[in-house]
Amino acid sequence: MLSGNVFDPRAIHELFPEAAEIGEHHWTKSFLEQQDSHATPVDSDKFIALTEKSSFCIPNILLPAQLNNEGNYIISLSQLCRWLASQAEKMGVEIYPGFAAAEVVYNDGGGVKGIATRDVGIGKDGEPKSTFERGVELHARQVFFAEGARGSCSEALIEKFNLREGKQPQTYGLGIKEVWEIPEEKVQAGLVQHTIGWPLQSNLMDKVFGGSFLYHQKPNLVSVGVVVGLDYANPYLNPYREFQRWKTHRDIRKHLEGGTCISYGARVLNEGGYHAIPKLTFPGGVLLGCAAGFLNAVKIKGSHTALKSGMLAAEAAFNAIKEGNSVAETFEINEESSIELTEYEDAVKKSWINDELYQVRNCHEAFARWGTGGGMIYTGLATHLTKGHEPWTLEHRGEDADKTQPEEYFKPISYPPPDGILTFDLLSNLQRAGTYHEDDQPSHLKMKEDLMEIPKTVSMQVYGAPEQRFCPAGVYEYVDSEVNDTKKLVINAQNCIHCKCCSIKMPHEYITWTVPEGGGGPQYQIM
Ligand SMILES: Cc1cc2nc3c(=O)[nH]c(=O)nc-3n(C[C@H](O)[C@H](O)[C@H](O)COP(=O)(O)OP(=O)(O)OC[C@H]3O[C@@H](n4cnc5c(N)ncnc54)[C@H](O)[C@@H]3O)c2cc1C
Ligand code: SF4
Repeated sequence: MLSGNVFDPRAIHELFPEAAEIGEHHWTKSFLEQQDSHATPVDSDKFIALTEKSSFCIPNILLPAQLNNEGNYIISLSQLCRWLASQAEKMGVEIYPGFAAAEVVYNDGGGVKGIATRDVGIGKDGEPKSTFERGVELHARQVFFAEGARGSCSEALIEKFNLREGKQPQTYGLGIKEVWEIPEEKVQAGLVQHTIGWPLQSNLMDKVFGGSFLYHQKPNLVSVGVVVGLDYANPYLNPYREFQRWKTHRDIRKHLEGGTCISYGARVLNEGGYHAIPKLTFPGGVLLGCAAGFLNAVKIKGSHTALKSGMLAAEAAFNAIKEGNSVAETFEINEESSIELTEYEDAVKKSWINDELYQVRNCHEAFARWGTGGGMIYTGLATHLTKGHEPWTLEHRGEDADKTQPEEYFKPISYPPPDGILTFDLLSNLQRAGTYHEDDQPSHLKMKEDLMEIPKTVSMQVYGAPEQRFCPAGVYEYVDSEVNDTKKLVINAQNCIHCKCCSIKMPHEYITWTVPEGGGGPQYQIM
């Protein structure tokens, strides 16, 4: 689990109403006791435009209302999820960490019957090892898919049930983050700082979508990161190195100097918003949270909508069972048919998830069309005046992979070398993600059979091998091959930190991201 995270507590207060009031039972107290992690109330909110050598604060009054963080908390989402898991277990929920859903299982009627985990103990050569164990199938009356942005089962379901019909394509951003421990005298607990401008945008018309965040959390942690819209055109852009360069700005480095970086990671987030939300239900299951695309890209927040969507789906399932119109009467799972929880989709449409996303429904596209300046003005007008009721839709076309332009139109970008103190080379930083995969297993990053030639004929030739730059874990490398002085692609799958960026931005989308052997991946503790 990786997130910013400035947490809007609206959904958690609805989930635990008795813990919403400040006092002994407030959720932040229980969270601190169990996870030793502070939910730090936001008490200062800054938005800064950076130029390479300077900066200026944009007054809060001029900012989109949705950027106001009063009442929110700075938290570690991984730790909040561990706390939520313990609350669920107290209520009798069984949780099986360490097992990934590798595929969806369907019943004879074509509805979803459950999921299957992957076989374990298969070697790189595809042969079973002494540790071989068959994957298991888990069957259920309803399966809720909450895999986050670009979930592998969720995307398969979206395709199978054509859930995106009549919707705009989903677009994504790549978020790259570090957590630092800083000296006590530098702590400004509760400070939230966002920036736009340098290094991603050099002028108001620049169309690279993105910005940065910096949050001070008690007792002495600073979370820093950048988010880069994956619809960028320049194949030489290297999001990881942009992030490292950003830290050298005087307005950022002053928060980190004297501190120690303790964690590193990356994850994509949805940016398509309201217009890119697919149909949410299908026979036997539903999509939740970022698997459906409920992230509000103006607020850069999606944990509150993810929580709320889970609550709405649970209520819909409960009502369906209570009303007896499901197979629950017999406690048997129907092998031929499964019900579709259409009530869930209706509930989302009537909820504040819908209201919030509707308000900013055209904003991302405004940035894509008119650059940072135009996007900011449009977003300001939409959130202050029209509240999303403008009688037009700014339609987004095309997938992020298709937005990359040939290298011939650009010059390589020269990035400063890392100093090992404030800025780090990728492979040494990667150790801070604690990523681990069993070495002797088939790669979970699979090249599509009909696109095997794309790395050589398109990615390298036309786009200058952008996967060497956008992957925030250095997984894709072109090395000298023995044949005719050419280069060949090597996929270091064991380094993968599961951000899912390659499944989105790869030229011609030549990679399919699948889950590795159970439990493999980054071991984020405080992200
Ligand atoms: C850099 C960054 C900064 C952000 N900042 C904020 C912020 O400040 N505030 C905010 O509210 N939101 C923020 N967000 C967005 C927020 O993190 C997401 O909206 C939220 O986490 C979505 O929750 P989710 O449960 O839908 O998905 P996720 O949090 O992505 O959780 C999905 C979980 O499912 C697991 N999973 C995936 N596939 C499988 C599978 N097949 N089998 C088993 N498990 C699987 C994943 O490993 C993960 O643990 C940020 C996101 C990023 C990347
Ligand atoms: S291989 Fe893909 S999913 Fe893994 S870290 Fe690189 S870009 Fe992300």
